Amino acid sequence: MSDRKPPKWIAPLPPGHHLDGVAPRYGIAQKLIDKSEKPSTRAAAEPASRAPAPAPVRPGIAPPARPAPPTRPAGHPIAQASAVGMAPPLAAQRPTGPRGTGDSMQARRERLVRDLAARGLQDAAVLGALRSIPRDAFVDAALASRAYDDSALPIGHEQTISQPFTVGRMLELMRNGRAPAQRLERVLEVGTGCGYQAAVLGQLAEMVFSIERIRALHELARTRLRPLRLANVRLHFGDGRVGLPHEGPFDGIVIAAAGFELPQALLDQLRLGGRLVAPVARGDGRQRLVVIDRTARNEWQRAEADDVHFVPLRSGTT
Ligand code: SAH
Repeated sequence: MSDRKPPKWIAPLPPGHHLDGVAPRYGIAQKLIDKSEKPSTRAAAEPASRAPAPAPVRPGIAPPARPAPPTRPAGHPIAQASAVGMAPPLAAQRPTGPRGTGDSMQARRERLVRDLAARGLQDAAVLGALRSIPRDAFVDAALASRAYDDSALPIGHEQTISQPFTVGRMLELMRNGRAPAQRLERVLEVGTGCGYQAAVLGQLAEMVFSIERIRALHELARTRLRPLRLANVRLHFGDGRVGLPHEGPFDGIVIAAAGFELPQALLDQLRLGGRLVAPVARGDGRQRLVVIDRTARNEWQRAEADDVHFVPLRSGTT
């Protein structure tokens, strides 16, 4: 780009500091990246112990107040929430799931969400969204009994539905400490798979765009999402590495597959103040969750969180 500026570096945060809204136990280290630097895990963040001079903690991103979510019609498969993503008390929920799944699935879902909270997920909106989306409706009937295990499950074409804890962690990081009723505006997901995370995102954002590169999975997600009638979730077939330039910029981008580098096109489609959360593969075969904040037109701030395990990010479509 002609207006590219020289790389701009800011010292990592001192030990103990962390991204806004992210608990210190996530173990995040920070540094800035610039367009001229390829943001790959090979250029991993400095360990906090080697951090030079302390830098001030930047002020939090203050998203605008969002209007209340639309009221869902009676009998809607997703329980009506009192605030964005906040599920009502169990007794007020109706049996969910297009396959006639009833209270036992709902009870399992409740238990799973309680376990996820006990394991460290803290964002009430994310927990509420996980509580309101029937994961059993996104897996094959033969796997429905395992839908509320905290594990990835096969969805065909050598792909998986992500582990619920990881979905929750990524979305919690993306929400960046917003208040429970504050929705993200426009969000992009790369890697629709069966559509589960897109549905969860639909509870947390005004508009969700999700791209899948395997046509059969794109179609599967369409089928799985249809009964939920989520008017704010749009599915696209294509290579998510190029993003959706005509729909951006996005204030959140989540990538559900691990590449060795973060596609520059996606970094460019982040709104200023926006955040991208993605697994990045490392040379040693491990993967790390990476959080990128766009802090200026040509500045992205990078932090690292948990080790994760995702299917590979691939190019092209099939
Ligand atoms: N979001 C899913 C997880 C799907 S697994 C969930 O709700 O659990 C990751 C998905 O990313 C796979 O379906 C895979 O086909 C897809 N994928 C990999 N590379 C991609 C790319 N470049 N563009 C779009 N989708 C991609």
